[in-house]
Amino acid sequence: MSVLPPVLETLRHGQTSVWMRPAPAGASDLSNEISMREVADAAARMARFEPVLAALFSSDGWDGRIQSPLLDYPAIDGAATCLVKADHLLPMTGSIKARGGVHELLCFAERIAAAHGSPGDDRALYAQYTVTVASTGNLGFSIGLVARAFGFAAEIHMSHDAKSWKKERLRALGAAVVEHPCDYSETVARARAAAQGRARTHFIDDENSRDLLTGYAVAASEVAAQLRARGLAIGPDRKLVVYLPCGVGGAPGGITLGLKHEFGADVLCVFVEPTASACMLVALATGERPPPSVYDYGCDNETIADGLAVPRASALVLAAVGSAIDAVVAVPDAALRAWVGTAWRDAALRLEPSAASFAGLHPFLARAAGRPNWPTLDHAVHLFWTTGGSRLPDSEFLPILSAARASV
Ligand SMILES: *Cc1c(COP(=O)(O)O)cnc(C)c1O
Repeated sequence: MSVLPPVLETLRHGQTSVWMRPAPAGASDLSNEISMREVADAAARMARFEPVLAALFSSDGWDGRIQSPLLDYPAIDGAATCLVKADHLLPMTGSIKARGGVHELLCFAERIAAAHGSPGDDRALYAQYTVTVASTGNLGFSIGLVARAFGFAAEIHMSHDAKSWKKERLRALGAAVVEHPCDYSETVARARAAAQGRARTHFIDDENSRDLLTGYAVAASEVAAQLRARGLAIGPDRKLVVYLPCGVGGAPGGITLGLKHEFGADVLCVFVEPTASACMLVALATGERPPPSVYDYGCDNETIADGLAVPRASALVLAAVGSAIDAVVAVPDAALRAWVGTAWRDAALRLEPSAASFAGLHPFLARAAGRPNWPTLDHAVHLFWTTGGSRLPDSEFLPILSAARASV
């Protein structure tokens, strides 16, 4: 075997690894695979459905908006201005999957209603259809919850990483849970095959879906408006660095698509992965297409970050935004776990390990410092996207906290 690039050598040993583009990407580095017109359509659709979702979830007091707060976070060593985009607090679902997953569900509901000339709240009509998806947990929960509220049957295919409490929670909603003794990529393939040719069934394809990606991308204009409302102007003198947890890449990829359109090279999009499942790092560092599997680079895909336990990145995401991802930081599980503890202690954020985007900060800063063609980041705003965890039961959260405490 030929000699691996240094970043793949450290990755193979389970050590913190950073891949970085020679210079930050601008909006012109996006391909034309997905247009901003499609993203604007997604935003309009989500707005149109707000009253529908509010009515479906009236007893929960949700207003139907899929939006999260932008929170202050105390200064971290090397990062004076820190903010948190708190998608772990997204209403009802408690994870970033509400954006892409619920958007795709709305697309499906809209198509069926239009085909039948129905006003769009016809449970008897929706009950004739099944929505199916593969998930390590959060995508299945977001889709299962909202699909059941519309009246759809829901079938959720889960990989062996999926936590049992996430499966039980789905069954309690009336979703069918199909368990697979294999990893996420294989589970997606099996779920896709199971749905093929079945009447009245819509498969939400986490590896290939445009509706997922555009739903995630809507978050960029939301956060841009929140930054403006704070009077934080982003530009050449004040860069925005955004840390995004990455599984297949749909959520961070969609957000990168939107952010690069908003801010061009003044935003730096840093993807954060566990070393065991660093599928985006491997895809970008090798340039191999279709995207390679992490197993071929000595990673075992075993991680406490169940939402990121993905061996192969999405080919659609790589085609649409691969050239606009500025950096990928892969960190060991211990770093994710430690940050779950720190974020709880310093800001009372209840996060799951997959959401601990903070772990990308120091490895990224160390590599960016003094790098030719990279801007200085002295006055940068550091924005950590927290992607899930507010719905973790104590029985899950407390052991992570004590393990985090024990390790420092
Ligand atoms: C799914 C998920 C992500 C990453 O999303 P991808 O689209 O798979 O890249 C990040 N954090 C959490 C908590 C998730 O559930």
